[in-house]
Amino acid sequence: MLALTARILLTFRGDTLDLLRRTPDANGTIIYPLSRRASIKDIFEGLGLPHTEVSRIILSRQEQTFEKIVLNGEHYEIHPLTSAMPPTMASTLRPIPLASYSFLVDINVGRLAGLLRIAGIDTEAVEPESTDSNTVQRAIDEKRILLTRNRDILKQRRLVFGRLVRSENPDDQLREIVDLYRLQNRLLPFTRCIACNGLLNEVPKDAIIDRLLPLTKKYYTLFSQCAACGKIYWRGSHHDRMTDKLEKIFGYKP
Ligand SMILES: [Zn+2]
Repeated sequence: MLALTARILLTFRGDTLDLLRRTPDANGTIIYPLSRRASIKDIFEGLGLPHTEVSRIILSRQEQTFEKIVLNGEHYEIHPLTSAMPPTMASTLRPIPLASYSFLVDINVGRLAGLLRIAGIDTEAVEPESTDSNTVQRAIDEKRILLTRNRDILKQRRLVFGRLVRSENPDDQLREIVDLYRLQNRLLPFTRCIACNGLLNEVPKDAIIDRLLPLTKKYYTLFSQCAACGKIYWRGSHHDRMTDKLEKIFGYKP
């Protein structure tokens, strides 16, 4: 006679389904055989879903933590990150919320960093030589949400806030992040340095005139300067192109 195999049921919701290495049934459910003692986090990460992508784990109508040891016969529901559960709100999985929205952008989504800065969102970029472990530590120390296309880095246990960026195109990535974190009302376009994330201050033309190229000197009157790196910005064609882009993505009007 065959022994009955211990197993659990896992039902995945929303965009957690996109990341599974095993195909669930039409209800999003996977039957998972238990061969060892494991936490619920170990199990869904083994199926390809980083813990940072999960907002709630429900078992018998009760919210569970990542450390819950699964038992034969249990049926879990795994919920995705959504704009309804922002990182600024305490939850069972993330009891210490973030005070504000700021990001650390990985090299594999590097152009997203520039776009978020143009939109005025506090965004640091991962240094090219940074190890995964250093990147995670920086996100924790600076209380930033790590944005990446690398699933493995998001599985590092210490990391609390992160997001696997789904889109490949930078404009779509910007839209995706603004929608997920409801940043529409927090946008302050052209207030941050694209190069270094420093804040821009308006600066009189006289103060910087000797640093301008002849044509810039001739045609432009409004200037701002990065408080951190000193880079000078003016309302030229680049500014107009970016305004059009932000208008297309969010309906932003200057
Ligand atoms: Zn700067």
